[in-house]
Amino acid sequence: MNDQVHIDVIGVDGSKQFGCNLCSMLLGESVLLDAGSASMLSGQQQRNVEMVLLTHAHLDHVLELGFMVDAAVASRDEPLRVMGSKACLEIVRKHYMNDLIWPDFSRIKTSIGPALVYETIDDKKWFEIPGGITAWSEPVCHGAGARGFLLRSATGSILHTGDTGPTSSIWEKAAELNDLKLIIAEVSFPDQKTDIAIASNHLTSSLLEKELNKLNRPDIPVYAIHLKPWERHEIEKDITLRFGDRVVILQRGDRLEF
Ligand SMILES: [Zn+2]
Ligand SMILES: [Zn+2]
Repeated sequence: MNDQVHIDVIGVDGSKQFGCNLCSMLLGESVLLDAGSASMLSGQQQRNVEMVLLTHAHLDHVLELGFMVDAAVASRDEPLRVMGSKACLEIVRKHYMNDLIWPDFSRIKTSIGPALVYETIDDKKWFEIPGGITAWSEPVCHGAGARGFLLRSATGSILHTGDTGPTSSIWEKAAELNDLKLIIAEVSFPDQKTDIAIASNHLTSSLLEKELNKLNRPDIPVYAIHLKPWERHEIEKDITLRFGDRVVILQRGDRLEF
């Protein structure tokens, strides 16, 4: 039996423009990590998703959760589980699915119960999510209840920073893992916009290099996500100059495994 978990990249762009897809990755078939591009999944893929795991409540990570759960009301056998930090879920409930901007689907009862159930993550503890994955949630430096995740299958672990500026504890936790296979890290801005990156709690290539030095594992491949589309060309140049081929920019359609 193959116990590896596939990561299918649905979208990794750091904002919405023509041809861009906001952050969403399928972990196996049952977990959607962020819902920026949930509508890019087919109906069957959406029905297969048991849980949406949110890094944080910013619009580019939750945008299409509303449409996904709308479609789910009539077609699912189980409520859609939406998991995130306490702060993240409070923001989604209060400012998005609040019966004003969009229905509060946690109160819409169907024959199978509510269409959606919210589940709060306990930070700094391993917890089980569907698909044979164990997860660890670590607060990162960003706002909107932001968390980075360590995700572990039967065959290895990965680090996903989520959106974050410079931070420490997630790198310290990652250093404890002896089966770390890859790192997915945000690089939102080019080096020449470091002031904007710092002000908005994001990373540039140069800031990422400092983050990676905290872990000091140059053998582990790094995949960059969350590039601002209008800065993509500059960020690509920065990454190539600084990292050569150690850091690869992820794209929609890519598949990783751990
Ligand atoms: Zn954000
Ligand atoms: Zn974002």
